[in-house]
Amino acid sequence: MLDDKDRIFTNVYGFQDWKLAGARKRGTWDNTKALIDKGHDWIINEIKASGLRGRGGAGFPTGLKWSFMPKADVRPSYLVVNADESEPGSCKDREIMRHEPHLFLEGCLVASYAMRAHVCYIYVRGEFIREREHLQAAIDEAYAAKLIGKDNVHGWDFECYVHHGAGAYICGEETALLESLEGKKGQPRLKPPFPANSGLYGAPTTVNNVESIAVAPTILRRGATWFSAIGKPNNTGTKLFQISGHVEKPCVVEDAMGVPLRELIERHAGGVRGGWDNLLAVIPGGSSMPLLPSDQCQDLTMDFDSLVKLKSGLGTAAIIVMDKSTDIVKAIARIAHFYKHESCGQCTPCREGTGWMWRVLERMAVGAADKREIDLLFDVSKQIEGHTICALGDAAAWPVQGLLRNFRSEIEARIDRYRAPVPREAAE
Ligand code: SF4
Repeated sequence: MLDDKDRIFTNVYGFQDWKLAGARKRGTWDNTKALIDKGHDWIINEIKASGLRGRGGAGFPTGLKWSFMPKADVRPSYLVVNADESEPGSCKDREIMRHEPHLFLEGCLVASYAMRAHVCYIYVRGEFIREREHLQAAIDEAYAAKLIGKDNVHGWDFECYVHHGAGAYICGEETALLESLEGKKGQPRLKPPFPANSGLYGAPTTVNNVESIAVAPTILRRGATWFSAIGKPNNTGTKLFQISGHVEKPCVVEDAMGVPLRELIERHAGGVRGGWDNLLAVIPGGSSMPLLPSDQCQDLTMDFDSLVKLKSGLGTAAIIVMDKSTDIVKAIARIAHFYKHESCGQCTPCREGTGWMWRVLERMAVGAADKREIDLLFDVSKQIEGHTICALGDAAAWPVQGLLRNFRSEIEARIDRYRAPVPREAAE
């Protein structure tokens, strides 16, 4: 279990003042200039050494991503923060924006400085109203205190803008987000070119998740060695886990990477409804990650590498717990409907395939299918995965694959029941 002294988000539950005075008491904006005075490369190298992997889902090394930005370019550089948190199950970035907006803002400044960006845009999900209000209030306070803006106390001119999205899931994809920010329809771009070469307005851009940015100042203050000593090799540091579904006390909690799943659920979320033995399955990292049946959850540790070994993923660390009362086929059909609804429609496999998978799953949920359709469904999901412009195609395919890998016998049993001849007495 994570020691209290190692927590980065000390006000994640909002028990203390989230404004500037409260943030300063918690150590935010404490001699940020000293960090900046160490130089662009020192910051990037320190983040690299910390082993921080992006907290938005993909887990790409953050320091390495920052190092892709050009050191000398006639075009301006931009930091864009993805605060479009829309993955079903994910609810951590909103807590940061509501309760730790200054820590996040300080992260925006140091990350922008490291990448030689003078301008940062924060793209906030359309439904996040209070989050945007707190964030904007924190930005206004920071401008007034000369912490950011032109000729600020840190010696690096820095403008920060909040942009409010309209609630489309696909705008959480980094290039769709950039399109939307530019005022266009939020549809993903073909890559390459990657944003570090040609991002916002065709200029070098890095798009980072809120949590990745918000942890940066504490890592720099306490040192890469401190951060990398927490967790497991290649899966370092602390992480905000979100636990929802059939638990007694759904919550967001900061713990060490590699914490056992059972400890997270029992210690922080009050346990599975009806006890641990009542667990049916867990979605470990937001709705796009393949589910894991209870037998694989017994000794599971929550980190990128352990979950990949089980053909799932840590994603955003949004844990959705399902007890034995769950209609697992119906649950995955519901998720499939979500991805069908959110597909932007540019690629045929995603536009057509997501709806096709959903319709087949709806039939399978009641058993009105043929057993050969189970393999057909898996095959179609494989034709979607990896054959689209953006990762929404994968996100739609993976939950279906997880269901078919782990609950095939359940689907077959439903088909058998549906097709079983009606007993004569019942028919009469
Ligand atoms: Fe749009 Fe889906 Fe293609 Fe992504 S994969 S670009 S959401 S159609």
